[in-house]
Amino acid sequence: MKVRPLRPTEAARKRLLAKRAELVSRHRAAAGALAGGERISELDQARALHDEFVSLRVGRMLYRELKRIDAALARLAAGDYGVCADCGAAIPARRLEAIPWAERCVACEERAQAEPERDELTDWAA
Ligand SMILES: [Zn+2]
Repeated sequence: MKVRPLRPTEAARKRLLAKRAELVSRHRAAAGALAGGERISELDQARALHDEFVSLRVGRMLYRELKRIDAALARLAAGDYGVCADCGAAIPARRLEAIPWAERCVACEERAQAEPERDELTDWAA
């Protein structure tokens, strides 16, 4: 059976939207676990606090992923999707297939990974 090939950007958009929906529902599940709490005993409070802490960390991680996906969707809309944000080279299609929200080519990504995560530091300083 032959499937009509999608334009690369259309395929990427679908993958990004699917991933976005998944992240949103995961975030909702994590937030629901917090908000859905009935009255809890003193004994359970430490555990609840721990759960909350974990959920916040998960939430922050999901939020960061969500921001990446939204940025990729914005690049798609602007027509510069698949272009490395650092050097302007085309990001290989196979890389975009694996990581539809990739914003850098492999070489630039490796360079960026070698640097300390700056947004993490400013998060804490804020
Ligand atoms: Zn690059």
